[in-house]
Amino acid sequence: MRNPSCLKKVRPVEEVTPEILNLIKDMAETMYTASGVGLAALQVGVQKRIILVDGEEDGLIVLINPMIIKSEGEVAAEEGCLSFPNIYSQVKRSSNVTIKALNENGDPVEITKEGLTARALQHEIDHLDGILFIDRIGRTERQVLLNKLKKKKR
Ligand SMILES: [Zn+2]
Repeated sequence: MRNPSCLKKVRPVEEVTPEILNLIKDMAETMYTASGVGLAALQVGVQKRIILVDGEEDGLIVLINPMIIKSEGEVAAEEGCLSFPNIYSQVKRSSNVTIKALNENGDPVEITKEGLTARALQHEIDHLDGILFIDRIGRTERQVLLNKLKKKKR
């Protein structure tokens, strides 16, 4: 999986074409194969504003051009990323988010989520803006994690 850290802002999707639907299918496969709870398109090398999150009882959530329009509360919990296997850290996130997006049919949707699903949604939307979960933790802790990562690659 490509390291997304060097990529900056990602372009919105203008139309839900068959190619986009294929991409979404591939992303779902990638995510579930890796036992992930979320995936952003650029993690599979595509610079488009598409995210997938496993919404537990809600099943697969597909959001195109997602935008957080409301967030409430704050909660810290352990977080990881498919682009950085085996490193985890406590990250503070809003406990509750409302997101505006398009669904796979190109229809506008608005969803409000809490718990793990809200966390995964915020994590994936961050990817679209070039922000990684390790950018949201303290500098010292980030250094420890990055050193750990370097050792693993050796
Ligand atoms: Zn991630």
